[in-house]
Amino acid sequence: MQTHAPIRLGVSACLLGHKVRYDGGHKLAPLVRDILGPLAEFVAVCPEAEAGLGLPREVMRLTGDPSAPRLITLTTRKDLTEVLQAWASSRVEALAAENLSGFILKSRSPSCGLARVPVHAEAGGEPSLTGIGLFARALLDRFPGLPVEEEGRLGDLGLREEFIARVLAYARRG
Ligand code: SF4
Repeated sequence: MQTHAPIRLGVSACLLGHKVRYDGGHKLAPLVRDILGPLAEFVAVCPEAEAGLGLPREVMRLTGDPSAPRLITLTTRKDLTEVLQAWASSRVEALAAENLSGFILKSRSPSCGLARVPVHAEAGGEPSLTGIGLFARALLDRFPGLPVEEEGRLGDLGLREEFIARVLAYARRG
C-alpha cells in the first residue's frame, strides 16, 4: 500500500484506543491498528469530544423521525443536533487539507455510524436501524467519492481487500 506519499486515513479516534467514548473508555480495533497501521498514517477524529460535548458525557442517541433524526441525550433530553452539525461542517472543511484517501468509522454511533444506526422513537419501543451518524453524513456529503467503511466490516477479508483497493485507487487519482 505504498505510494510516493504515505496513504492517510481518517479514523474514529476511539478505534485507535483514544479514551474519548462517553464513559471515558475506548473501542480499540486491533485489526485497524495492526493491519492498516503499518500501511497508512491515521488522522484521528472524535466528533463528540472535539465538538465539546464533554468527557465523560451523557449517552446520546439518534431520536425522532428516521428521515431526519435529532441527536438527543438519553437522560436530560438535551438536543445536540445543531452543536454537532455546526462542528462537523467546519471539521470536514479542515479535513480537506489532510489529504485523506479513506475513512474508517465506528459502527452504530449516532455521530460516526455509517449505516444502520439505531433511531429511537420518542415513545420508545424498538429502534429502527435506518440512521447514519451526523458526522458520517457530513463526511459523505463533503467527500462523495471517498472510500468510507466501518471497522466491523473490515474483519471480513474480502471487504477489507476491497476497501484497501478503493483507498489505493483514490490515493492515485489525479
Ligand atoms: S464513535 Fe465517534 S463520537 Fe463516539 S467516541 Fe468514537 S470517535 Fe468519538
